[in-house]
Parts: sequence; C-alpha cells; structure tokens
Amino acid sequence: METADVIVIGSGQGGIPLATDFAKAGRKVVLFERDALGGSCVNYGCTPSKAFLAAAHAAGRARQASALGIHAQVEVDFPAVMVRVRQIRDRFNQGVRRRLENAGVQVVRASAAFSGERTVTGDDVAVQAPIIVINTGTSALIPDIPGLAASPYLTNRNFFDLTELPPRLLVMGAGYIGLELGQGLARLGSETHVIARGDRILAQEEPEVSQTLGEAFQRDGIQLHFQVNVKEVIHTDDRFSLMLDHGQELQGEALMIAIGRQPNTSALHVDASGVVLDEHGFVQIDDQFRTTCEGIYAIGDVGVFCISPEKVYFRV
Ligand SMILES: Cc1cc2nc3c(=O)[nH]c(=O)nc-3n(C[C@H](O)[C@H](O)[C@H](O)COP(=O)(O)OP(=O)(O)OC[C@H]3O[C@@H](n4cnc5c(N)ncnc54)[C@H](O)[C@@H]3O)c2cc1C
Repeated sequence: METADVIVIGSGQGGIPLATDFAKAGRKVVLFERDALGGSCVNYGCTPSKAFLAAAHAAGRARQASALGIHAQVEVDFPAVMVRVRQIRDRFNQGVRRRLENAGVQVVRASAAFSGERTVTGDDVAVQAPIIVINTGTSALIPDIPGLAASPYLTNRNFFDLTELPPRLLVMGAGYIGLELGQGLARLGSETHVIARGDRILAQEEPEVSQTLGEAFQRDGIQLHFQVNVKEVIHTDDRFSLMLDHGQELQGEALMIAIGRQPNTSALHVDASGVVLDEHGFVQIDDQFRTTCEGIYAIGDVGVFCISPEKVYFRV
C-alpha cells in the first residue's frame, strides 16, 4: 500500500490545477485517470466544441451574408474541419500531460474505486491519503429506447471523431450540448432536426432566452420538434428512423443523444468510503465541497450542493 498527501480521482477541470498546485507546494499527489487526461472539457466538450463552432460560425456568416449584399459560395471541407478540431484537442491534451509531469504529480492510468478507509485502488495500485478529491465528472445520459443501444448513435464523446458530414442530423435533447453541436452541423450543411420532450429549448433558462435562441436556430434552418417522445429507433442501411409517439417518423444519417448528464460514480464503490450520493448518483457536498466523509471532497459536475453547513461529519 502506497501513501500520499492527496489523492485526486479524475483529471477534470478542477482536478488538474488542484493536483498541480498541491504538488508544487511539496505535497505527494497521486491522480487516477481512466481515460484521456484533461477530462470532458479538453477532450469531448468545451475545447473541441469551440474549435468546431469557429468553423461553423464562418460558414454560417458566409451563408447569411447575402442579406448584406455579399454573395458567397460556401464549400465545406468537413474532413479538414474535423482534423483541425482534433489537432487542437490533442494539443490541449498533451498540455495537460506536461503540466502534471512538470509539477511532479504521480499519474495512475486506471479506473479508481474506494477500497477502504481513505484508500483508493486502481488496477493493482492502492493508495491511502488523508485528503481525497473526487473529480469524476459526468457522461451522456442514454435513454432506454428500443433499438437505440444497438445503433451507432453519437454523443459528445464520439461526435468529434466524425469524418463525414451527415446529410441529415437528428438530435434528441434541446439542452446546450445538442443545440450547439446541432447548430454547428446545420451551419456546415446538415439538415438538422432537434427533438424536445418539453415545449421549448433550453428549458432551464428564462422563456425569453428559449424564444430568442429558438428564432436564431430557425434562421440557421434547424427544425425544432416540441412535446414529442421517441418510441423506437431503427437503424438500417446507414440510416436512422425515429418513430415518434404521435405517429410521425423522422429520418437521418446521424443521431445525436443529448438529453442530459449522469454522474460518473458507479465505478467508485463509494459504499467503502462513507460518501453519500443523491438519488441520481451525484455526490452530496456542502458549500465547501465537503462530502459526508471527513477528508473527502467532490468538485466539478459530479457534486450536488445539498448538505447544510450544520451537518455532522463522520469518519469511516
Ligand atoms: C459539447 C460540450 C461543450 C461544452 N462547452 C462548455 C463551455 O463552453 N464552457 C463551460 O464552462 N463548460 C462547457 N461544457 C461543460 C464542461 O465540459 C464540463 O462542465 C466540465 O468538463 C466538467 O468538468 P469536471 O471536472 O467536473 O469533469 P470531467 O471533465 O468530466 O472530468 C472527469 C474525469 O474523471 C475521469 N473519471 C471518471 N471516473 C473515474 C474513475 N472511477 N477513475 C478514474 N478516473 C475517472 C473521467 O475519465 C474524466 O477524465 C461543455 C460540455 C460539452 C459536452
């Protein structure tokens, strides 16, 4: 069994600066990461999406420029767009690796789980530390719809691996992820349909925001479908058919699932730690990111603020 001053599980947006700052301050830090260094933001989220949207924005401006008297013919080299996106993503990812190395953080490339009192194990590496920080983030929530699991659907995770522009894109979910990636493909030339269960896009925002952005998306040619549920997904001959509950059928060459996020906590075996999750699996924290177990913290998207400051902390 190794010992350390700090264990960080997950190399997300908070975990990297925290681990490097602790290490630079002379602490022994072990960071477990089961996937690409830098987490969702660097590899499957903010960084590649904004690089992608820069290209889409240029195409969108050129397409709408005729209103200003500028007549441009837009030709999209989609493979080149995506090669640039992946190059930028890889540069950022390498930057994270160098940052951890330079600070002297010990990185264990394995899925980590609690295995005892302040002890975390990944593969055959077991580490004990007085401070443990959970920074494991979230993943796309996949609905249980007949036919979906066996189909080659997209999420934010594999979206940036696309090499061909789909002629038609179907997006399930009208939150910011589906909308920004859907709008990007629409501007690059895909016929795009967004399917929402509710009666407006971005339901967590003010209605005026939904209204204004909805109009902007429609100007980009995006077709918004409200108050519909997908009953079945059929994938044959490289084409998706979505059977909707009011009898309509929508077809496309790509299907993107963006209906929400689920916390990455199932692999952590938190029962061995004293950390309590909420009913959706998010880690319960207070306003100082403390979990229900003293010495264990959760930062980033995996935590949910629901512990009141008066709560008594317990040791395992
Ligand atoms: C398309 C898209 C665009 C976005 N754009 C923006 C934006 O413009 N601005 C913004 O602020 N936010 C944006 N976001 C949201 C942002 O990406 C997330 O809020 C952020 O990445 C969450 O960071 P995190 O540190 O909580 O977790 P993550 O970045 O998800 O990192 C968690 C890490 O933990 C690892 N992990 C999980 N479980 C284990 C385990 N058991 N053992 C070891 N490692 C584990 C994962 O592999 C992952 O690397 C966007 C998201 C998406 C999908």
